[in-house]
Amino acid sequence: MEQSIENKLIKADKAFSEWKKLPFAKRQELIAKASEILKSRSEEFGTIITSEMNKPISQAIAEVEKCALMMNYYADAENILQPEKIQSEFSYSEIHYIPKGVILGVMPWNFPFWQVLRFAIPAILAGNTVVLKHASICFGSGNAIEKVFLEAGFPEGIFQNLEIGHKEVKGVLEHTIISGVSLTGSEKAGAEVASIAGQHIKKSLLELGGSDAFIVLDDADLDEAAKVGALARLQNCGQTCVAAKRFIIDEKIEDAFLPKFIEEYKKYVPADPMDKETKIAGMARPDLADDLEKQFLKALENGAEIILPLERVSENEFKPGLIRVKEGNPILQEELFGPLGMVMTAKNDEEALQLANDVPFGLSNSVWTKDKNRQLFFIENLESGTVNINRMTSSDPRFPFGGTKSSGYGTELSLLALKEFVNVKTILGQ
Ligand code: NAP
Repeated sequence: MEQSIENKLIKADKAFSEWKKLPFAKRQELIAKASEILKSRSEEFGTIITSEMNKPISQAIAEVEKCALMMNYYADAENILQPEKIQSEFSYSEIHYIPKGVILGVMPWNFPFWQVLRFAIPAILAGNTVVLKHASICFGSGNAIEKVFLEAGFPEGIFQNLEIGHKEVKGVLEHTIISGVSLTGSEKAGAEVASIAGQHIKKSLLELGGSDAFIVLDDADLDEAAKVGALARLQNCGQTCVAAKRFIIDEKIEDAFLPKFIEEYKKYVPADPMDKETKIAGMARPDLADDLEKQFLKALENGAEIILPLERVSENEFKPGLIRVKEGNPILQEELFGPLGMVMTAKNDEEALQLANDVPFGLSNSVWTKDKNRQLFFIENLESGTVNINRMTSSDPRFPFGGTKSSGYGTELSLLALKEFVNVKTILGQ
């Protein structure tokens, strides 16, 4: 490991020894200040995001503003980490929550501010310090976030951007100073990083890929479902873990729904990411566009039919595609991380549920029906971290966020996230 990186780990460790003693409310004051900085300079930070990974600028600014909202949520949050007294025959019987130490965040490029801060803020509020390995195309975002912490008045070493490639993650994670790791990214990266953490008995939290279903039943508001469905697939150029990737349509309304859906879909035409009117721009990297094109061909070779072709218009831009896929197509076991949607039909609710659950992932499904009993059936039986009824998935700081199956483990957001990187200490005695 380079000395400059080790020096940062040592700095984070030293900062931890003081930071953990600071009262929860004092940490919250600093988080509130950082939130103000983000909010007041959302356009500047949004421009960094767009220039790094092509997100349309209006969506990049909205991402920064959402970070500010999330930070306000934690700045006002109840301190659930106070010692808890338990009624018992002992004179001491308490639970204490002790921050773990220096936590490594390994983060992706698709939401360069949100993913980092969603992990870092509750970890830091709990008394830990954080070092970040950001995606290689997002070092500008990582550095900007580090500066925000310093400008808000956080002591040096509470949050540091490491600027390392993924090959260097192993050495950092193995370092005795690192107490745990949170990774948001692909299954492959998650499995590798969690294995290293496991070998060294360090806590890991994984937020990985998804292939969520958007289920439209025959009593749904079809206009709304069509409009929201297109957004749910194509926002951020389809590069969202919780994007709707498979549209499972009740066969009774297929003929009524599909033309509406296609019409909404066609409104997404790639344009200049710096233009505030742009709804979709290029993918983050040309190699990611190559990968998506290969998946499109693989789907076709295995019997998928084209509803709208995935049309490459530049090295990283597509006119969004839509394909009809049948059960058994191997593409259904993969995540399509770009502007390509899959459509399937179901004879009844049972079949829609079975198709929805028949993937290795389980992040956040969406079901469209007005019927309370049908809503309940899907709420109880969908295998995902979140179920949305008559709405698309969007994370909300107040509610837990996490996956099932190969989508990962652990909880981000909500008060529960405060307990992810703490040791639970039981105190008993007479
Ligand atoms: P990725 O290639 O796995 O990269 C994510 C991060 O992991 C990057 O910092 C990357 O560094 C690093 N990395 C990659 N391979 C690694 C390895 N072998 N060891 C250690 N670190 C490694 O994923 P991505 O393409 O950036 O992001 C897309 C994926 O993230 C999708 O699958 C998406 O669904 C998922 N995602 C999940 C959530 C969620 O909350 N569940 C949210 C957003 C995204 P380099 O850039 O240097 O390669």
